Amino acid sequence: MAQEIPYKIYLEESELPTQWYNVRADMKNKPAPLLNPGTLQPATLDELSQVFCRELAEQELNTTDAYIDIPEEIQSFYKMYRPAPLVRAYCLEKALGTPAKIYYKFEGNNTSGSHKLNSAIAQAYYAKKQGLRGVTTETGAGQWGTALSMACAYFGLDCKVFMVKVSYEQKPFRREVMRTYGANVTPSPSETTAIGRKILEEFPGTTGSLGCAISEAVEVAVGTEGYRYVLGSVLNQVLLHQSVIGLESMAACDKYGIVPDIIIGCAGGGSNLGGLISPFMGRKLRGEADYRFIAVEPASCPSLTRGKYAYDFCDTGKVCPLAKMYTLGSGFIPSANHAGGLRYHGMSSTVSQLYDDGLMEARSVEQTAVFEAATKFARIEGILPAPESSHAIRVAMDEALKCKETGEEKTILFGLTGTGYFDMVAYQKFNDGQMSDYIPTDAEIAASLAKLPQVD
Ligand SMILES: *Cc1c(COP(=O)(O)O)cnc(C)c1O
Repeated sequence: MAQEIPYKIYLEESELPTQWYNVRADMKNKPAPLLNPGTLQPATLDELSQVFCRELAEQELNTTDAYIDIPEEIQSFYKMYRPAPLVRAYCLEKALGTPAKIYYKFEGNNTSGSHKLNSAIAQAYYAKKQGLRGVTTETGAGQWGTALSMACAYFGLDCKVFMVKVSYEQKPFRREVMRTYGANVTPSPSETTAIGRKILEEFPGTTGSLGCAISEAVEVAVGTEGYRYVLGSVLNQVLLHQSVIGLESMAACDKYGIVPDIIIGCAGGGSNLGGLISPFMGRKLRGEADYRFIAVEPASCPSLTRGKYAYDFCDTGKVCPLAKMYTLGSGFIPSANHAGGLRYHGMSSTVSQLYDDGLMEARSVEQTAVFEAATKFARIEGILPAPESSHAIRVAMDEALKCKETGEEKTILFGLTGTGYFDMVAYQKFNDGQMSDYIPTDAEIAASLAKLPQVD
């Protein structure tokens, strides 16, 4: 008889990954290099090192080493909140009446409430090792800023966070968590940077955007002695650190003979998705196994499903390196009624290349359908999911319901990236029946894409 699968699979400490996996090493078509925004030539290690920590810049450029050691200090920090459980969603399966087997990897078991801590601690570690005084960053919904504040507190680094103004005002408790961990939080756009002042002059009363907050954070990092800029998603180095999600998931699956048919992740900048799928994708790329991978994005910010694969700016102020990615244009801002996160205009260049090569699928979902799934999941499985994570829940449920129709016993694995305690304004809107869907028109997307930089 097959081994009984427990509700929750926790790896032993001795089974935890000691190396990250770099999927680029196994990709035949490598993701396109970052370009220097001034010269439009591939950014060199020295150029990247002016913005990012040296060792992180090296990781950013490393397309050849499949495995990179996780430093001991990071491994021991991971042990404070990892392993993350791989949960068999027995209750959800029963409620849906599906023959499918559903698993989720839960990354919300830490104070920051999301997977972002996996990369925050790595980035803070390399900054400390380089002898820096501090780091700057942006945060939208606040999960990344919180994770980075925790990591900086651990290593005694200064942490300056530019928080998108609308979130700063709507999520005062997020801000207070960051300050409790010692971070300095500024609403963006702000008067403290040249780019912030310029944006405020051009768009008085703007409530800010991620792209704008990134520009401010980069300006301060580059202009302040002993500081570098760190980013919580999109970059190759972040996907590398997040591979810990996929490595643990794969070890847990292998241990119990679980073979996923479909692996699903929500996609904002692509870091949790990239991290979850990387090791499985490696097997697919090496011809050892096959899986279906599905990226799920909001219908209001559909970079993979409706964007263009092109070089674009990563920020509004155009100070960051350019990345080749599926993008909606760096000026694209999702409609104000969009409540579910995942609002970045572009997508990780690694995920973009894998998608362009036909190695994975993408799907967009509307937010009312996402919150329906979130509410159902909360009531059945107990966890109050982050709106971002709920995009993956939606599609996992849809796939399980398809199995109910066909009678197929597929195995579905999805990433449950975090909890939604700070997203109650969005839940309130949904509960009050005030949430609506806005899908950008082709003309709106075309107008934004018309402003893409000309790079050949
Ligand atoms: C930031 C965040 C995401 C999206 O970011 P990715 O880089 O696409 O993973 C998803 N879920 C949660 C809970 C987040 O905080």
